[in-house]
Amino acid sequence: MMTIPHVIDGRHTEGHGTRRADVFNPASGEVARQVPLGDQADLEAAIAAARKAFPAWAETPPLTRARILFRARDLIEARRDDLAAIITAEHGKVLSDAKGEVTRGLEVVEFATAAPEILKGEYTEQVSRGIDAWTMRQPLGITAGITPFNFPVMVPLWMAPMAIATGNCFILKPSERDPSASVLLADILKEAGLPDGVFQVVHGDKDMVNAILEHPAIQAVSFVGSTPIAKHVYATGTAAGKRVQALGGAKNHAIVMPDCDLEKTVDALIGAAYGSAGERCMAISVAVAVGPVADRLVSLIAERTRSLKVGSGADDSNEMGPVVTAQHRARIGRLVDAGVEQGATLVVDGRGLTVPGHEKGFFIGGSLFDNVTTEMDIYREEIFGPVLCVMRAPDFDAALKIVNDSPYGNGSAIFTRDGDTARAFTHCVSAGMIGINVPIPVPMAFHSFGGWKDSLFGDHHMHGPEGVRFFTRMKAITQRWPAGIRAGAEFVMPTHA
Ligand code: NAD
Repeated sequence: MMTIPHVIDGRHTEGHGTRRADVFNPASGEVARQVPLGDQADLEAAIAAARKAFPAWAETPPLTRARILFRARDLIEARRDDLAAIITAEHGKVLSDAKGEVTRGLEVVEFATAAPEILKGEYTEQVSRGIDAWTMRQPLGITAGITPFNFPVMVPLWMAPMAIATGNCFILKPSERDPSASVLLADILKEAGLPDGVFQVVHGDKDMVNAILEHPAIQAVSFVGSTPIAKHVYATGTAAGKRVQALGGAKNHAIVMPDCDLEKTVDALIGAAYGSAGERCMAISVAVAVGPVADRLVSLIAERTRSLKVGSGADDSNEMGPVVTAQHRARIGRLVDAGVEQGATLVVDGRGLTVPGHEKGFFIGGSLFDNVTTEMDIYREEIFGPVLCVMRAPDFDAALKIVNDSPYGNGSAIFTRDGDTARAFTHCVSAGMIGINVPIPVPMAFHSFGGWKDSLFGDHHMHGPEGVRFFTRMKAITQRWPAGIRAGAEFVMPTHA
């Protein structure tokens, strides 16, 4: 059985830790590889390499750092298919979606190649007579990223290029469920010319996460995962004096107004609810139908949900692959059971699906609920699977209240032809990322990504200008020069008097 290596100080190693976890191919249901669950000694080895690498990397001119990222950008593009194949093999999503994930990650590398520009400070001449002031941004030192299973390339790339471009060393602890892509990323960065110890991969589970959170040498931790773990990471990391950004789970609502273009809205909702088997933090899991649009909306979505093509992600003609593990599929099934027991109308039932030739795969079909209410488990829990809940609201204000009462605030969308309604929604909705007739409004790399409420703990969003702020600290300089050589040459022996 192949063991996926850590990447420490530029070398592949199985490390010191003796524990291992199985990594499955979700389409076949078989264990494909094992990942070492690193221990304190593995983290210490990575910290030692980062300590060694940091002074020279921090002194490396931003333009030189940018040139390495330019090469990394080209190498990632050239190896997009390899990265996508690894994602599909361990996560399960269809290949075209996996390639899309690589592209979205690549955009952050492209943004980070602007290192000399994004690190420019501000300058004010003459804050007082003969005095000037300016600010500069400097790296923090050793930083770490802890990432979830659902975007094994994109989420590490939300963090690492920003950390590296700004002069930090970065230690990645990827999800233990699909860790191989991180190793290829490390190899690519090395090939691009990144010095050893600047980007490292240390595998592990919660023990490694806690070791990172407590290690005094680590200055900042960037985390993406579920809300309970994000809360824990934020509380523990900040108590240990670190800068922490911890992005959590989501329950993203789309408000569907009666005046929307229904056909396009249904297209959008199908992709946003069932794409990547619903395992996206920006998936739409709740559609709030306003007024008379509900019946037609449900019947059109139901038709499309029933005909979803579910199968191995390696076959690009499929629309939806398996979910990540057998346990996750069982949990989704239990939540669908609870929805039925608690009185929601199960319009399409995805439970019990088997895919011929992949009988042991972790497949579950798309489910659609109607008449969902806020006290039901299917509404309160983040299902993170292919389940769309439809709720009914009499008018826009009632729909907006549902969205704003949710404890989550990652993203939210509205489908309408009316600019005034869209504007009111944008102005009043409590969420960090908003779509107007756009179902998954993931901001581009030059804007920043982040939610509100229980979807983000900390002050900074990911990548873009917020990413620069997260991975740097600011210095403000105030400068006055006494009269110097310009005042004229001195011919008298200088004395201290
Ligand atoms: P998860 O919270 O289980 O795991 C995330 C990371 O935390 C992993 O690296 C894991 O090893 C570690 N971890 C797990 N349990 C831990 C514990 N008890 N203590 C310390 N560390 C622990 O999340 P997941 O299942 O891998 O990913 C799915 C979740 O991530 C969903 O909730 C999804 O919404 C969220 N997510 C959010 C965003 C966002 O931008 N807000 C993006 C992607 C995913």
